[in-house]
Order: sequence, then structure tokens, then C-alpha cells
Amino acid sequence: MTQETIFAKIIRREAPADIVYQDDLVTAFRDIRPQAPVHILIVPNRAIPTANDVLPEDEPALGRLFTVAAKLAREAGIAESGYRLLVNCNRDGGQEVYHLHMHLVGGRRLGPMLVRPTE
Ligand code: AMP
Repeated sequence: MTQETIFAKIIRREAPADIVYQDDLVTAFRDIRPQAPVHILIVPNRAIPTANDVLPEDEPALGRLFTVAAKLAREAGIAESGYRLLVNCNRDGGQEVYHLHMHLVGGRRLGPMLVRPTE
């Protein structure tokens, strides 16, 4: 069994987080180390470790990530100025928390999509 992450505890409200949205399929909360004025994580309530582990039955939750992202972007006032939605997978993707999540990042010009790591 895959080890539980902090995100599972946040979803169950057993760990502190600034939750901005929750329903039966997904939970959204502010990133603890924001990279931009708006940086929200939207996660499926089911603990899917990585993008590699997505199942057909997850399609409703994964679709919900996008509708909730659009709603939160509108509420944050960045829908028209623009934003970036990101999902990292495994080591080369820079994934730190192994509970699949979508980053909603915006509120400033974000620059080029990919930068080379310094190390
Ligand atoms: P990733 O590199 O795509 O796995 O992103 C993980 C993100 O989770 C990072 O941006 C972290 O800042 C964020 N993060 C880690 N722990 C917490 C937490 N307890 N509450 C909110 N965000 C967190």
C-alpha cells in the first residue's frame, strides 16, 4: 500500500490548511510555499499517487479539477489575465507530494514554461 501523504490528512481536515473549496470529488487549498500571488492546489479526494496511477474511474474527479480551477481562477480575478495549470509526475517532473494534484498559479507574468534546474 502506498504511504499516505499530508494531502490525505488535509482532505479529512486532520491537518491544517487554507481550504478554499471542497466537494465529494476534489479539495482545493492554498499552497504553503506560494510561487505567485495565486497558488492553489486542487487534489482528487481519492489518493492517486501520480499521473501514472490514474484509472478510468477517476475521470469524473480529474474533470472536476479543471472546472474547479476555472471557478477559483474567476473568483481570484485572474481568469482574463491568465494562469497556469500544472501536474508534476515523479522525479524528473519535480513531484514532491505523491498524491496527484493540480497547481493553479497566477496573478503575475509567469515567464517561460520550463527552466533548466541549476543542479
Ligand atoms: P509538487 O512538486 O507538484 O509535488 O508540489 C507539491 C506542492 O505542495 C509544493 O508546491 C508545496 O509547497 C506544497 N505543499 C507541501 N505541503 C503542503 C501543505 N501542508 N499545505 C499546502 N501545500 C503544501
